[in-house]
Amino acid sequence: MIHEILAVGPLQCNCSVIGDEATREAMVIDPGDDIQDILALIAKHGLTVKQIVITHAHIDHVGGAMKLRAATGAPILLNQNDYALLKMLDVQASWIGMPSPGKVEIDQSIGQADQVKAGPLVADVIHTPGHTEGSVCLYFPAEKKLIAGDTLFAGSIGRTDLPGGSFEKILRSLHQKVLALPDDTVVVPGHGPLTLIAEERESNPFLR
Ligand SMILES: [Zn+2]
Repeated sequence: MIHEILAVGPLQCNCSVIGDEATREAMVIDPGDDIQDILALIAKHGLTVKQIVITHAHIDHVGGAMKLRAATGAPILLNQNDYALLKMLDVQASWIGMPSPGKVEIDQSIGQADQVKAGPLVADVIHTPGHTEGSVCLYFPAEKKLIAGDTLFAGSIGRTDLPGGSFEKILRSLHQKVLALPDDTVVVPGHGPLTLIAEERESNPFLR
C-alpha cells in the first residue's frame, strides 16, 4: 500500500493519498487545499485517482475537492448528513478568514457499511456522527488502519461546538464503533500526529 500523508491548508488538515502498488489505482481522502502538491504526489507515484473521499464537510477537509475532481475526473464521496454543512462553505470560510472555495458537488453519498476502494485496497465506511452529523471514519481491515477525520485525535477528540456537533453522539460513536477496532489499529487523525487504538483507549482523557 502506498500511503502518503500531507498536511494541507492553513489548518494543516491531514490529506491521505492511498494507492495500490500493482494497479496504481488510488483514492485521495480530504483534499482540503494545496491541490498542486497533492497532484505532484500522485504523479510521483504514477497513480490514477478513482475516488475522492471526504470524511466530513468542513472547509479544511473539502475545500480543494472540486479542483481535484477537475484534474482527475474522480467522483467526490461524502455522507449525505453533511450536505447542509456543504451549503455553508461561504460561512465556514469567513470563520477562518479563507476565500470561499465556491460550490462543491457530491457525486455519491457514503454511509455505514459502504466501502471505498483503490484497486484491491478496500476500506469500510464507519458512520461516526458527533463532530458533524455526516462524519465518517474509513477502516482498512487488511492493513489495520483507520482514517479518523476529526472524530479522534492523539489524546483528544473532535470539537462538538460547531453546527451539527454533539458531544453525546461523538462519545457514542467512539465507544460503540471506533474503540471496537483492534488495539493495534493505526489511527490517522484529521490533524496532528498518528496514534494507535490501544493508546487512545488507555490514555485519551475523553475516553476513560
Ligand atoms: Zn472538522
